[in-house]
Amino acid sequence: CGIVGYIGTQTATDILLDGLRKLEYRGYDSAGIATLWEGEIQCIRAKGKLYNLQTRLQDHSSPAQIGIGHTRWATHGKPEERNAHPHLNREQGVAVVQNGIIENHRDLRDRLSALGYTFESDTDTETIPHLIAHHLTAIAAETAQPFSPLLEAISRAIQELEGAFAIAVICAAYPDELIIARQQAPLCIGFGQGEFFCASDTTAIANHTQTVLSLENGEIAKLTPLGVEVYNFQGERLRKQPRTLDWNP
Ligand code: GLU
Repeated sequence: CGIVGYIGTQTATDILLDGLRKLEYRGYDSAGIATLWEGEIQCIRAKGKLYNLQTRLQDHSSPAQIGIGHTRWATHGKPEERNAHPHLNREQGVAVVQNGIIENHRDLRDRLSALGYTFESDTDTETIPHLIAHHLTAIAAETAQPFSPLLEAISRAIQELEGAFAIAVICAAYPDELIIARQQAPLCIGFGQGEFFCASDTTAIANHTQTVLSLENGEIAKLTPLGVEVYNFQGERLRKQPRTLDWNP
């Protein structure tokens, strides 16, 4: 139901939790956060109120400066901790949060299961990290390497997804990349000094930055500590200008 993401120089967990709190008004049944530190993805999730997630995070504090968070409104799979986002492909350390619905999730699940991927949840979302991992493996075996294998793997995965969705992805092997994409579900980017944010709603990031860019349908963006690159799903770079929020704290 709500997405938030951060890459920069501050402690990601604090910013993500704060962002999720701002998205509470949308309603949710569970919440979770994935961060990346020293090559390891840490994923903490909890059913119910954000307070439950916050309590759990107190025992797992991380200095990570990159992460993604989610509040879930279940559409596929009961509101339980194992169905809460982020969802993972553990082998390749891919973590994904998603808003919306992947309509062809059954076909994808059957295909990925046949390839040996094991599912831990009942969600439509979990097809995405496995599909990305599948494409990362395929790309690694190709002779011509794309300049950004993670961006390429996610672009290829997205082209196989049907439905209305917004996603945010981090991957253990790419600690300086937060990748987000939008297809019929809102997603915006916030610009700071050496730090960047993303969220399904500007209210989640407005106390950190007033400079924002809303992604359009069919757009994918790579956020690094150095800047933001926006592409269409065909891989063409787009020139986009952020705008200033008309918002007083
Ligand atoms: N379809 C996904 C799920 O049920 C995402 C729902 C949402 O937007 O929160 O987990």
